[in-house]
Amino acid sequence: MATPKFTAMVQSKCPKCRVGKVFEGPVYGFKKQKMQERCPHCRLKFEVEPGYFYAAMYVSYAFSVAELVTLGFTTAMLTKSESPWMYVSVLFAAILILAPFNLRYSRLVLLHYLSPKIVYTPVYYEALDKK
Ligand SMILES: [Zn+2]
Repeated sequence: MATPKFTAMVQSKCPKCRVGKVFEGPVYGFKKQKMQERCPHCRLKFEVEPGYFYAAMYVSYAFSVAELVTLGFTTAMLTKSESPWMYVSVLFAAILILAPFNLRYSRLVLLHYLSPKIVYTPVYYEALDKK
């Protein structure tokens, strides 16, 4: 059975075959996360055109706003603090901690949901079943 689109995105699988990994290694770890140039399974070139991942900045921006607004309100409700340093320190820490997550998932959202040129091709998945 083929991997659903959302599951493939969460598992950082290729948007075309949903088998090969887009990134090497885990989101959080001691090694720097590295994006593969091509899918190891179907050979899809992930950077469709030069500077393609600049568009991921907009997705990353949306992620950051959502995360920081949520965290700001949560901090306000939990601490009831009026000190701006409380918010600056919590939100700055959140920006640093969530940066690897935002990098990876903004690119994956771009590849899976915002790239009309890249379509899921089940042929690659079926080829895997026959092996
Ligand atoms: Zn692939």
